[in-house]
Amino acid sequence: MASGVEGARIEEGLAYRRSMASCFSHPAVPLALACWLPKVRRRALLVAAALLSAMPDLDAIGYFQGVPYEAWNGHRGCTHSLVFAVVVAFVIGPWLGRRCEVGAMRASLFLCASIASHGLVDMLTDGGLGVALLWPFSQERLFFSFRPIAVAPLGVSAFFSSWGVDVLLSEALWLWLPAAIAGSVGLVLTRQRPPKPPA
Ligand SMILES: [Zn+2]
Repeated sequence: MASGVEGARIEEGLAYRRSMASCFSHPAVPLALACWLPKVRRRALLVAAALLSAMPDLDAIGYFQGVPYEAWNGHRGCTHSLVFAVVVAFVIGPWLGRRCEVGAMRASLFLCASIASHGLVDMLTDGGLGVALLWPFSQERLFFSFRPIAVAPLGVSAFFSSWGVDVLLSEALWLWLPAAIAGSVGLVLTRQRPPKPPA
C-alpha cells in the first residue's frame, strides 16, 4: 500500500496523465492560421510552427525527473505561458524567416501565435490543473469556463484504448473541425486571382 506522500504522488501522476490535449492536435491551430496568411505559407515555416505548437508539452521530461506538477516549471507551467511563446518565437523567427524569405517580424509573430495557441487549447480541456498563461507575472493556473475538449493520456499505450478514441473524437470535433472550416474560409478569402491578360 502506498504511503501518504507516495499516494499523493501517484494521484498527481494520474492527474498529469489526464491533463493534455494530444500533441497530434495542437498543430491544427497554426495550420488554420496559415490559411489566412499567404505570406507565411512556406514549407519550413509551417513545419516549424506545427512542431513548436506541441513543444510546451516537453515539460513532461521535467515531470518524470520529479518536478511537481504545480511548480512554476511543472506541467502546464512556464512553457505554456505567453512569455515563453514570445521568447522562443523571437529567437527562432528571424533566422527561420531569413531561410524562408519571410520578414523576421512576420515569421516571429506567426511562430509566437503558434506556440501561444498551445496554452489556450489546453485551457479548453476538461482535466488536470490549469495553465500558467501569465507566468512569470502570475502563478495562477487558468482555464476557460467552456472546456469541451477531453484530456488526453500521456502514455502511448492508452491511446489504443476507448479513452484514446474518446480523446481523438473530441479533438476532431472541437479542434480539427473548426480549424478546417476556418482554414477553408481563409484559403478562399485570400486566394489570389491570376492577373488579367493584356487586351
Ligand atoms: Zn500542454
